[in-house]
Amino acid sequence: MALVVQKYGGTSVADAERIRAVADHVARTRRGGEDVVVVVSAMGKTTDGLIRLAEDVSAVQPGRELDMLLTAGERISMALVCMALAELGVAAASFTGSQAGIITDEVHTKAKILEVRGDRLREALARGVVPVVAGFQGVSAARDVTTLGRGGSDTTAVALAAALAADRCEIYTDVTGVFTADPRIVPRARRLPRVSFEEMLEISATGGRVLILRSVEFARNHHVPLEVRSSFTWEPGTWVLEEDPTMEQATVSAVTSDTSEVKLTITGVPDRPGIAASLFRALADASVNVDMIVQNTSHDGTTDISFTVPRTERSVAVGIAEGLSPKIDAAAVLVDDGVAQVSVVGAGMKTNPGVTATMFEALAAAQINIQMISTSPIRISCVVDAGSADDAVRILHQAFGLEGAAPRA
Ligand code: ADP
Ligand code: ASP
Ligand code: MG
Repeated sequence: MALVVQKYGGTSVADAERIRAVADHVARTRRGGEDVVVVVSAMGKTTDGLIRLAEDVSAVQPGRELDMLLTAGERISMALVCMALAELGVAAASFTGSQAGIITDEVHTKAKILEVRGDRLREALARGVVPVVAGFQGVSAARDVTTLGRGGSDTTAVALAAALAADRCEIYTDVTGVFTADPRIVPRARRLPRVSFEEMLEISATGGRVLILRSVEFARNHHVPLEVRSSFTWEPGTWVLEEDPTMEQATVSAVTSDTSEVKLTITGVPDRPGIAASLFRALADASVNVDMIVQNTSHDGTTDISFTVPRTERSVAVGIAEGLSPKIDAAAVLVDDGVAQVSVVGAGMKTNPGVTATMFEALAAAQINIQMISTSPIRISCVVDAGSADDAVRILHQAFGLEGAAPRA
């Protein structure tokens, strides 16, 4: 019998009616002759609510306790989905991440999955029981409950699909698939019938939050076919698959934006070997995830170094930069909270020159200033003023003819 892992995001289980609709779909999939493992997120904005509650209670939130709190959200969903399945006569049993055998490292609030021991889920499936697993959570070797970072239920689903050798993993959400841009920003964005793992990695890495980056990495590494679909319309969605070498690749498949980073600039840095190394070593040792880096040409033996870091790592990064600045005789540390990154992604970029020029021209025509640039073989990203980010996405979406064109087969 084929096995499918179905993951339902927060909006898909937001209220009692949505939970009954999910149970109904699971029951139909079973009647269609397939085994199902269900992974659920917390209902609606429950996780945001729990984080706010923690902030209201205390300025100090030990990671272990925050994880214990947040995992409660997914537990509520899993139990309710099982009850809705029971009413439909479908045998189901809920499992926390720990019960499902999801073993992680000990890094609270952003733990990585080290191993999936799927025996309990396999036993349930063998007994004809549908396992309903709480997403976003695991247990560390020290037997503490951990969470996988925001959006982590996608990763739970793909990791289970890999461990159980599922035939596919379906990610149900509130849009009908992966679009040429976030449909909330570009209402006329098109759904992509298929997208390669390579492109999806870049889309997820640059703000296209429909799939969390780590889940795409996992799916690619373990060859799990993924489908992103809507739990509101149930229509066919977007397949994320290995690249098909026989198919022509779109030059630009999607435009993304990301406002989750801040920009730091250290001015008047002496232009000597080893200075940049000391700064980025200190940041790396503090586990700060540096994204873009730009160093200006030297004037009078000094230069400016700008780099972006996740907003969540702002205070650590600023502390390090300010601590180091007098030691390296730099002038000042400036922080810009109002930046955004806009990116264009497309596998066909590798063989089609001119994408960069088109991107820069389109932004220039709209008077949008480019502050920093970074590229990969299939992506170009620019840092712009946060206030221009949505306009930039709409302008680039149009400049690359992504609206209304024939969908890719
Ligand atoms: P879930 O709670 O189901 O995990 P998310 O909010 O994490 O849902 O992801 C779905 C959202 O991702 C959509 O509502 C959409 O606004 C956003 N999104 C951003 N970029 C894209 C894109 N390129 N295609 C589709 N959705 C996107
Ligand atoms: N509930 C978690 C979050 O809101 C995990 C998830 O939904 O994937 O981030
Ligand atoms: Mg999500």
